[in-house]
Amino acid sequence: MEETLKATTTATALPCDLNAHYQIADQISRELPKPDVQIITSGSRRIPAHSGVLASVSSVLENIIDRPRKHRSSERIIPIVGVPFDAVAAFVRFIYSSRCNEEELEKFGIHLLALSHVYLVPRLKQRCAKAVGQQLTIENVVDVLQLAKLCDAPDLYLKCMKLISSHFKALEKTEGWKFMQNHDPYLELEILQFIDEAESRKKRTRRHREEQSLYMELSVAMDCLEHICTEGCTSVGPCDVQPNKKRGPCSKFSTCQGLQLLIKHFATCRNRVNGGCSRCKRMWQLLRLHSSMCDHLDSCKVPLCRQFKLKMQQEKKGDDALWRLLVRKVVSARVMSYLNLPKRQRGATERHKTVQWD
Ligand SMILES: [Zn+2]
Ligand SMILES: [Zn+2]
Ligand SMILES: [Zn+2]
Repeated sequence: MEETLKATTTATALPCDLNAHYQIADQISRELPKPDVQIITSGSRRIPAHSGVLASVSSVLENIIDRPRKHRSSERIIPIVGVPFDAVAAFVRFIYSSRCNEEELEKFGIHLLALSHVYLVPRLKQRCAKAVGQQLTIENVVDVLQLAKLCDAPDLYLKCMKLISSHFKALEKTEGWKFMQNHDPYLELEILQFIDEAESRKKRTRRHREEQSLYMELSVAMDCLEHICTEGCTSVGPCDVQPNKKRGPCSKFSTCQGLQLLIKHFATCRNRVNGGCSRCKRMWQLLRLHSSMCDHLDSCKVPLCRQFKLKMQQEKKGDDALWRLLVRKVVSARVMSYLNLPKRQRGATERHKTVQWD
């Protein structure tokens, strides 16, 4: 390795500190002709390079190389200033070897991101955006956000915005935020809008989840109601089934005990007729919901099932759009619970079963 390197150094007369840059590609370097381009970096430091290699990786560099020169004999010069020399060296090394180590990414990720964007090296840009995203802190996030915008790095932009919106209180105290407020009010507005939208997205998701869990509860209640009214459970059941008083608490549904109490209450409540009892109202709704979902017709043993069906036919209540929507949602929740549910949703179903119906 060392010998090869020495050979390379003599053959192409590269400055010492650059040998390391070509180390990875030493095999290639040995076969390369003398460098024909000089990259001039900050502090007038030079990196000799090969126009063919630069042009093959970056179309922007290719255009610069192909620009007509004043004198045919004058050497080709590509100025890359404004970033540290070591960052440019790492950039050139990537062009030669398609490699970039973690240390370089950590140290010069921001600069390499800018360079890879300006000179159109998408593979390096991708790696840099990812690396910079991993180094995000409250202190640097505003700067990185600005860079992500400039460099058109949407993943990094989103990552910054998410960090900003989840740590906004802490962020407001940073110098970066204060500076940005004074110098870039449009970006401030953009950030505030993102936070606002994220909040309402969160609210929508929460509401959707709550609704889903309600439909799931109702679906379980429907199953449980059929179970009680068809098989009979503990002390409640259809007249043709003997209640077995010796049986312990229901193991089929955790809501069963509560629903049984509710049914017992419904059967005996005196306030029901006046409509002044909220427990009876709830039972009434459950029975109506059952009837709307039930397709057993005459064989159904759930109380009032037929009566509700008839009433709905007579009054054309089936046209109540909201009620139909509720029925549809509970039916689909029921289907979901019968299908092989993914773990996360199964957990949710378990939670619903703990709801008390009495
Ligand atoms: Zn039961
Ligand atoms: Zn009542
Ligand atoms: Zn029924």
